[in-house]
Amino acid sequence: MKSEVAVKECSSYDYDEVKQAIYSSINMVGGVKSMHVAGGDRVLLKVNLLGARKPEDAVTTHPVVAKALAEYFQDAGADVVLGDSSAAGPVETRKALKVSGIEQIANETKTKASNFEAEGFTRIPAPKGAMRLTEVYVAKPVVDADLVVSVPKLKNHNLTKFTGALKNLFGTVPTATRMKLHALGNIRYFSQGIADIASAIKPGLAVMDGVVGMDGNGPSYGNIRKAGIIAASRDSVALDAVCSTMVGYKENEVLTTVEASSRGLGHGALKNIQVKGTDARRLNLSWDKVKTMPLDMVPSRLFKIMIGLVYTRPKLIKANCTRCATCASHCPTHAISLSPYPVLDYNRCLRCYTCNEICPNGAYELRKSFLARVLGRMGIQL
Ligand code: SF4
Ligand code: SF4
Repeated sequence: MKSEVAVKECSSYDYDEVKQAIYSSINMVGGVKSMHVAGGDRVLLKVNLLGARKPEDAVTTHPVVAKALAEYFQDAGADVVLGDSSAAGPVETRKALKVSGIEQIANETKTKASNFEAEGFTRIPAPKGAMRLTEVYVAKPVVDADLVVSVPKLKNHNLTKFTGALKNLFGTVPTATRMKLHALGNIRYFSQGIADIASAIKPGLAVMDGVVGMDGNGPSYGNIRKAGIIAASRDSVALDAVCSTMVGYKENEVLTTVEASSRGLGHGALKNIQVKGTDARRLNLSWDKVKTMPLDMVPSRLFKIMIGLVYTRPKLIKANCTRCATCASHCPTHAISLSPYPVLDYNRCLRCYTCNEICPNGAYELRKSFLARVLGRMGIQL
């Protein structure tokens, strides 16, 4: 059976226009009934909060899109949570929730804005057929949800070329997992890791914020480009296939789509996808490609060494610690032992930053390595 992708033109972030496009595109692919959402169900909207950037920067999911989506599921009686973790730790995520406008939308709609690092991560069984992850820790609000909705921003990505519904799931796993996938030093392997994550989470719906997106060297510092669409699908792989080809990528050029499709997570081949609504080809979008050096051109050994030198770690400030043991009891990998003050085993540390978030006395600081500080100054966040 073919997967369905609905594409609706949407010329601005005017609330009524966005709401109409969101409701109509989701209803065109089966609506809330097809997702079996009932009153009291928990729906997690996994927005893109890459960093503390304003809506007009086109880096994060636009708050008006998040608002219309939250209301869509509230109309069905669901409890809605909007959340993500940024690329630079919990403090940045907290800022990102504010600056992006997502926190304000959560207040207006009486939903919850969730900082995944503050809520912690839970180990779930590695999905069958996983190729790159032997264990998977996933943010608790994602694990607890009855339905996960991936809500990406239409953007280029300097590693995977395109960042869509699949790559958007990267924010659901802790930093150490993300670095592990980066350290594979190969875009195909990295994409297989993204497919592992998608396979563990199985989003039931994906909605693309493509009103204004980003081409060139996305996902943070490319060119802001108007695309004028909202797209929805129950199949995240199909949504990415349609949206990436719509902006000029060839079929099979985006490896996250290829790998997830070959794993049977959805349809990546256009012949197996029925596009409803606007014919995306008529939009005539032809985006500038990513210009940064592809990961595959860096010798993988060198890349692994470099990645090992880029980190942000929790570091104890002994003077603030009362030895209450709260951090140790909340650490998902038992990487903290008290002797008599907390001692961290960095080999077991997921860099989920729960200890930093949960400590009642502010006894942890997050310390960046030299290379992480240098890359951060250059605007590069892994
Ligand atoms: S939670 Fe904070 S105060 Fe308590 S043991 Fe851990 S670091 Fe010390
Ligand atoms: S030591 Fe802290 S950052 Fe590391 S896994 Fe434990 S709670 Fe997470």
